[in-house]
Amino acid sequence: LIQVSNLKKSFGTNEVLKQISFSMDKNEVIAMIGPSGSGKSTLLRSLINLEQIDGGSIQIDNEYLVKDGIYVKADDIKRVTGKMGMVFQHFNLFPHLTVKQNLEMAPKLLNIQAAQEIENHAKDLLEKVGLTEKSGSYPSSLSGGQKQRVAIARALMLNPDILLFDEPTSALDPELTGEVLKVMKDLAEESMTMIVVTHEMGFAREVADRVVFMDGGEIVETNNPQEFFSNPQHDRTKLFLQKNL
Ligand code: ATP
Ligand code: MG
Repeated sequence: LIQVSNLKKSFGTNEVLKQISFSMDKNEVIAMIGPSGSGKSTLLRSLINLEQIDGGSIQIDNEYLVKDGIYVKADDIKRVTGKMGMVFQHFNLFPHLTVKQNLEMAPKLLNIQAAQEIENHAKDLLEKVGLTEKSGSYPSSLSGGQKQRVAIARALMLNPDILLFDEPTSALDPELTGEVLKVMKDLAEESMTMIVVTHEMGFAREVADRVVFMDGGEIVETNNPQEFFSNPQHDRTKLFLQKNL
């Protein structure tokens, strides 16, 4: 479903992604881990075109977003990135809109679904994340865990084929991470294709099909969680796990 080859990205003279290549299958859940500054966020943001890459190729569902450093035309970029939804560390909800309005905004702007259909979808998704009773509330009145569950529901409104999560629980108090991880685990069980950048090693171990370890702008090691955690191959992986387990 995703194919990345030789992806390069620099900020000025800082080479942040160095010839990254990886691919992922439909229904796969990847946990992406690695030290601060290793390029995890930049990689996710590149997939959804929030960062422009300097070289290499990205294909989503066999369609190019960028081929050998050349981006496809604007309409095609929109269509390709439209297959993905993203959930951020800091929720990025619209503060002046209610929960329901946050969910309905993007589909209403796209104007391809009837209002009633959008409303029903929002209702279903709020129920799915356990927030039916918060439909009319504003984000400021929600806990961090509730906000993040709204953000997940909002990302699902456009029926993405792939969900990208960038440290979805890192801004939460520890007692609130569980309710968000539970929603993500449910999605994984429903075969949603997901890339989750996370420091939650328990989640990586339990829910991911594959762990990708990044360090210094490279994918150093990738393996199934069982092997990855019990038998890390590279010194950099071992060092990281020593510090983080
Ligand atoms: P963290 O775990 O702290 O979130 P990360 O693995 O997500 O780290 P990135 O945010 O991708 O790392 O950053 C990788 C490198 O790129 C860092 O050196 C960072 O300072 C740099 N960087 C990221 N975004 C920008 C930007 N907009 N402008 C300049 N440099 C940036
Ligand atoms: Mg990051």
